[in-house]
Amino acid sequence: MNIHEYQGKSILKSFGVAIQEGIVAETPEQAVDAAKELKVKYNSDWVVVKAQIHAGGRGKGGGVKLAKNLDEVKEKASNILGMHLITPQTSATGKLVSKVLITQDVYYPGASPTKEFYMSVLLDRSKGRNTIIYSTEGGMDIEHVAEHTPEKIWKEEIDPRVGLQAFQARKIAFNLGLSGNAFKEMVKFVTSLYKAYESIDASLFEINPVLKTSDDKIIAVDSKVSFDDNGLFRHPDYEKMRDITEEDPIDVEARNAELNYVKLDGNVGCMVNGAGLAMATMDIIKLSGGEPANFLDVGGTANAERVEKAFRIILKDKNVKAILVNIFGGIVRCDRVAQGIVDAYKNMGTIHVPIIVRLQGTNAELAKKLIDESGLKVYSAIEFHEAADLVNKLLKAN
Ligand code: ADP
Ligand code: MG
Repeated sequence: MNIHEYQGKSILKSFGVAIQEGIVAETPEQAVDAAKELKVKYNSDWVVVKAQIHAGGRGKGGGVKLAKNLDEVKEKASNILGMHLITPQTSATGKLVSKVLITQDVYYPGASPTKEFYMSVLLDRSKGRNTIIYSTEGGMDIEHVAEHTPEKIWKEEIDPRVGLQAFQARKIAFNLGLSGNAFKEMVKFVTSLYKAYESIDASLFEINPVLKTSDDKIIAVDSKVSFDDNGLFRHPDYEKMRDITEEDPIDVEARNAELNYVKLDGNVGCMVNGAGLAMATMDIIKLSGGEPANFLDVGGTANAERVEKAFRIILKDKNVKAILVNIFGGIVRCDRVAQGIVDAYKNMGTIHVPIIVRLQGTNAELAKKLIDESGLKVYSAIEFHEAADLVNKLLKAN
């Protein structure tokens, strides 16, 4: 699950990380009120209006604008709210902006030079460790830095047995070229950021830019958070931050049905029980000359209702030319699943793509009989290679 910048900042604040304060607005009028409130607090007319969408690169796409007075706040907020913001991280159609964050501006007239750093904490799966990645070259061009001057990007691995050590936080502050009060502030910043990342079960907590202000404070100007979905049940409060308008409708439907679904770009849909078997099924689809259109693990309880939901989700993808159902009946009996498939098929009316069903395990023969005698356009197989041959044949015929 991903959340918005303003939500990530509220989490940071609750862990004692210094942030750039701001107020969320959904209309230009609310934006003006927010700017007035900030002016009272910080005694500056300048604010930054920031589009809140689940994608980075908003600055480059025109979703982060400076406003120097209340009229400009109204104008910029009107322009940004309701726009389809296109950034390097969105699709070509962009994302609809329905909220803006009004924040204090850090580059008000007369401010002394400041510095933007990059920092993120993420799980490095190849190492099996949380890693802090940081750079002196923060701001909007971090991708460019990573590609052209990778030596300017540092990594600090965290040993899970002891967690982040004080010397590591000091090393980071030192490598960022800080001294004096800014050094101490950075040590505090890194320590609290890491604590936040660990406590909320995040898989990514990225702050770009981390800003050193003219008076040597270190603050988070932006935030990007991805939660590990498997840890979300431990955090009902954070789960409430979910914004389904930002998510793909098919993903939302699959999650509501408690199906483990990942859309891919191929032409053969698949429905499998168990993640390992699902991976093997995707391999067999490739071997048969097709490309998997999705990963879908229906889990241990493949009853008629779940099977029907899964069919509906797979068929929303217009690229699907055939569906391969591959179920191993260990605890669940194959004849039950077969009956579920027949029922789902009948309930859904006409399905225009061929369905190949491979059921193996308890009562597999009975299941095959049920499907063969159902009179539906469903092809059954017991052996894996038979299923693959069928997929191949049917793809060619269609
Ligand atoms: P994104 O990463 O989606 O482009 P950011 O929040 O990082 O969005 O904003 C882009 C850039 O705009 C930042 O790198 C920073 O230079 C500038 N910026 C963002 N917020 C402020 C602010 N409150 N005051 C001054 N500059 C800002
Ligand atoms: Mg940013």
